[in-house]
Amino acid sequence: MFFKSKLNCLLFLAASIAASTTTVAEEGYWPDGKTYCVTLTYDDGIPSQIAHALPQLKAAKMKGTFFCPGGVTYRWSQEDLDQIRDEGHELAGHTINHPCARKNDWVKPGNASEDYDDARMAKELDENLANLISNGVQSELATFAYPCGNTSIGEDKHSYVPLVKERFFAARGTQFGIEIPSQGDTDLFEVKTVAGHERDLAYQLDQVTNAREKQGWLVIMFHGVGGDHLAISADDHKEILRFLQNDDSVWVTTFQEAAAWVKSKPVATKTTAPAAADYGE
Ligand SMILES: [Zn+2]
Repeated sequence: MFFKSKLNCLLFLAASIAASTTTVAEEGYWPDGKTYCVTLTYDDGIPSQIAHALPQLKAAKMKGTFFCPGGVTYRWSQEDLDQIRDEGHELAGHTINHPCARKNDWVKPGNASEDYDDARMAKELDENLANLISNGVQSELATFAYPCGNTSIGEDKHSYVPLVKERFFAARGTQFGIEIPSQGDTDLFEVKTVAGHERDLAYQLDQVTNAREKQGWLVIMFHGVGGDHLAISADDHKEILRFLQNDDSVWVTTFQEAAAWVKSKPVATKTTAPAAADYGE
């Protein structure tokens, strides 16, 4: 008798554990039953994004994140910025002068990342943030992308990630990869990405499928769309949106909203930034 009730008790315990495990697995990581997340990002404030990306995003009812350098490299008009904001997209930081390593032959003398010290970068980030705030961005939610994915400044190449952390909510790097935030090791100040202009459409859709299989967060980094530098064709861009539109399991959202979700989940995040890869702009 004692043996039998003990056995029943164990069976009940085993069933309870199985049930709770199933519940956690069914709940998943992403909101509203979505199984993975894709963020569409557009760098450098370039005209083809206005001409091609915006109408395609509008037709697909999707929101993107536009990392736009302010100041002298601004290539958008105020009307362009107003349109991006009014259509519900995220305007985000990318410095003022877009400092990249001196080894790039297009970097203007004096504006290489090696030419910066903390004070100069801090001033530039403050100006960048002020531009965003004047364009309707909530200061505590502003996000950032490191120009060229380069997280270091000065001849000694020291990190300026701490300056970004003091001012921004989250930041995208250019290290290749798909984040799996449920594993708790996503660094929200150097979120990995996949470059949208690389190889062909099949490769891009493979990245999306890969993110779905891993239940991860794919951040696609576009530059030109149907024109300008590092471009994807307008047709291929449209196909990526169509693929996402036809997948009920994906949450397509801005960098800020995805980062806020990841931040809100009770898993530890790394705070140290690994060395930056040097790809994309
Ligand atoms: Zn850039």
